[in-house]
Amino acid sequence: MRSHYCGDLRAAHDGDTVTLCGWVHRRRDHGGVIFLDLRDRAGLVQVVFDPDTEQAFALADKARSEFVLRVTGRVRMRDEAVRNPRMATGDIEVLGKELEILNVAETPPFELDEYGGAGEEVRLKYRYLDLRRPEALERFRFRSRLTHVVRAYLEKEGFMDVETPVLTRATPEGARDYLVPSRTHAGSFFAMPQSPQLFKQLLMVAGFDRYYQVAKCFRDEDLRADRQPEFTQIDLEASFVEEKDIMGVAEGMVRSAFRDMLDVDLPDFPCMTYEEAMRRFGSDKPDLRIDLELVDVADLMDGVEFKVFAGPAKDPRGRVAALRVPGGSELSRGQIDEYTKFVGIYGARGLAYIKVNDAAAGRDGLQSPILKFLPDEAVAGIMERTGAQSGDLVFFGADKARVVNEALGALRVRLGHDLGRVKGDWAPLWVVDFPMFEEDDDGSMNALHHPFTMPKCEPGELVDNPAQALSKAYDMVLNGTELGGGSIRIYRQDMQKAVFRALGISEQEADEKFGFLLDALKYGAPPHGGLAFGLDRMVMLMTGAESIRDVIAFPKTQTASCMMTHAPSPVENALLREVGIQVRKPDTDK
Ligand code: ASP
Repeated sequence: MRSHYCGDLRAAHDGDTVTLCGWVHRRRDHGGVIFLDLRDRAGLVQVVFDPDTEQAFALADKARSEFVLRVTGRVRMRDEAVRNPRMATGDIEVLGKELEILNVAETPPFELDEYGGAGEEVRLKYRYLDLRRPEALERFRFRSRLTHVVRAYLEKEGFMDVETPVLTRATPEGARDYLVPSRTHAGSFFAMPQSPQLFKQLLMVAGFDRYYQVAKCFRDEDLRADRQPEFTQIDLEASFVEEKDIMGVAEGMVRSAFRDMLDVDLPDFPCMTYEEAMRRFGSDKPDLRIDLELVDVADLMDGVEFKVFAGPAKDPRGRVAALRVPGGSELSRGQIDEYTKFVGIYGARGLAYIKVNDAAAGRDGLQSPILKFLPDEAVAGIMERTGAQSGDLVFFGADKARVVNEALGALRVRLGHDLGRVKGDWAPLWVVDFPMFEEDDDGSMNALHHPFTMPKCEPGELVDNPAQALSKAYDMVLNGTELGGGSIRIYRQDMQKAVFRALGISEQEADEKFGFLLDALKYGAPPHGGLAFGLDRMVMLMTGAESIRDVIAFPKTQTASCMMTHAPSPVENALLREVGIQVRKPDTDK
């Protein structure tokens, strides 16, 4: 229907007759001449209609925003004075000769030009209009090119793309499963995969050696800002490998993506143990662009009378940590209150602090509501260990270690941004030596990554002392975001059984749920390992998008529903009967 894209026309086309298709972006009437900015995937071009071309002029007069047009006309240079350097096509315009209105459009519910004017709900309801914005299109073009670059890299490295089932059994990755009722086996359910984990391992047993997939994963979780119930992974697995092999391939892939897409040469990826990351940054995905660090002070506090500190200092699961903020004594009472509220989100019950007015003046140079509770040695110890100088402020966290890490870890990042302490553009790293298990408050064990991760110890040691076991897992972190994670896997049955035992999964349950895996481990499973990247997060980070929803074409809301299609929705009784389901009324649920 067309000869050119609107946004592709340049001075070189001067004098050419072109046929364009697109949407009316803007329409202006200038004393008898009509200007239409016509928009398509490639951009905008100005089309002018004058009354001499009567028919086209009359139609142009009727055209309104977002009408769909086909225009034939001649490209001509604009007068010097009206050239628009901010527009890619700003040197030229098209003198419209023929115009066909292919479709009319109602006034859109929000202006496509005006940024941030419309609420997200409306924008998601009319997502196809929201996606007409050039910035949106640009992000999806980026995403498409990125997957292409990634695929090309992995293919070159000998990985092959294999699709794995979406209707399957539960794959334990720590979230709830989305279930699909079976009609042919009424009363039974498929689970949507939380990741292709077990299938990719079975492909290694099959001898495929190097697998990858751009795979949809489904997790029914309470959503946080950067989560979606369905999301995409770049998933890979290889046989006869150790940690360094998978980390090498993964790093190579990310490096080539950054080079090809952003012309960025990423710096070295340092390797940090989980223990160090938690100790220094309160997080297993530290943003290394921010130079603020946590310092442990529990040993200075276990004898003090101040219960808020002494309690956690004596608790083996507690932590007392200090965070020095250079120049922080400038913070106002209001700002400190604001940060206190902020750490409250993470369960912290307060945010103690000491302002250092004059470091040389000892106690007298300090200002703090908690100072009176602290003996001289404790105060001197804090000053020495944090290296606090005049003009600084020291924040404290004292609670269960989990609360302190989450609260001070998040505060550190927030302060880094608020106080302009984010240095450099990209700070990648690997976090390694994760604990194999996480202990719940009730003492039960959960796999920190997943139960197929290889422990660093023998099966016997694992069963005897699960809380101490480390795993051969690794996460790639960039600017405080986990880009991807993976591990070397268990490939021997005795080890897999030991892990299930440590998790409190009985042999019967293990057989029922993972019998197929345990079977496969009997038939010559090779050593193997892999990793999965979160593609959505990677695109978000690389394009500077604010939310993961900006890089997913049809995302769900924070309550996991689709504003446009109204999914999920009730279904007719007849359909339910077919799959053997009777829905309980919510109030009979209790
Ligand atoms: N299946 C894991 C995940 O989804 C990644 C991996 O271990 O390869 O996080």
